[in-house]
Amino acid sequence: MNNLAQSVDAGSPQPGGEAPMLECRGVSRNFTVGKGFMSEKKTLRAVQDVNLSVDRGKVLAVVGESGCGKTTLAKMMLGLLKPTTGEIYIEGKPVSEIGIRQIARKVQPVFQDPYSSLNPRKTLESIISLPLKVHGIGTREERTHMVEEMLSMVELPKRLLHSYPSQLSGGQRQRVAVARALIMKPEVILCDEPTSALDVSVQAHILNLLQDLRDEMNLTYVFISHDLAVVEHLADYVAVMYLGRLIEYGEKSALFSNPQHPYTQALLDSVLTPEPAKGIPEIALGRGFPNPLDPPTGCSFHPRCSKVMDRCSVDAPVMHSRDDHLVECHLFDE
Ligand code: SF4
Repeated sequence: MNNLAQSVDAGSPQPGGEAPMLECRGVSRNFTVGKGFMSEKKTLRAVQDVNLSVDRGKVLAVVGESGCGKTTLAKMMLGLLKPTTGEIYIEGKPVSEIGIRQIARKVQPVFQDPYSSLNPRKTLESIISLPLKVHGIGTREERTHMVEEMLSMVELPKRLLHSYPSQLSGGQRQRVAVARALIMKPEVILCDEPTSALDVSVQAHILNLLQDLRDEMNLTYVFISHDLAVVEHLADYVAVMYLGRLIEYGEKSALFSNPQHPYTQALLDSVLTPEPAKGIPEIALGRGFPNPLDPPTGCSFHPRCSKVMDRCSVDAPVMHSRDDHLVECHLFDE
């Protein structure tokens, strides 16, 4: 990530500087829902005016509860959805001008559930080599050799080449998903909750593998997660999302040691509870997650905020630079 002030303005790279590996500039995505005969059309503003960037070799974690827009943002980064407004850039080039095949060579996903993301009727060789086949890379023998190499990179034995996903454990399947993502030698891996479907004992192995591969291949990760304990382990930078908006953004160490936004503070409190996987404790936030189709006025977090003020339900806050991070909250208005 470039310096934070630049990220707010998200302009071109500094003179002589390298463009960020991945960058979102003013990215929003709306969906129209309720098109039925009897139902009224509504606009779901899934992602709103997001500005962030990640430099090569770094890990950006995007965190927030279900429904905060992080998966929609991930799909846009993969070129699977177009932004309604704004643009995503890969190494300074607009994704809209790159084309889906080129994006796939640069950015590859690893999804949450290794059970549903792998075709049960295909062997590991077939699953991992599929992207090579689609892009017309190598002869059959060369592809088999590349798959064998990739299996050893993700620490799976070559003898599994002709096995099926059903013959593997959950952790082994996620390693296959990582191998499939890496076979095209992408530069960015977009991990959408890559360990949340796995046993706790297996999660650490997959996280360590991802970290080792990053060092070995100079990979850039965008790590989508609701689990701040995992994020603390892996991230360089953290972007916190709430109801489609980026509400706090900064270096992990600054954000974890000195969170500024009341929502980030509540999220971090939830990590300290004995069962963080159960989500954010009601005690910290008062009320449940609002309906994204009918978001609160002003600051969308105001019904749950412990520091709410009169103006919060009327005026939407703007982003402020505060102690090395960016925070969108009226507490920091001049
Ligand atoms: Fe809380 Fe107001 Fe800040 Fe929103 S703007 S987080 S309601 S203090």
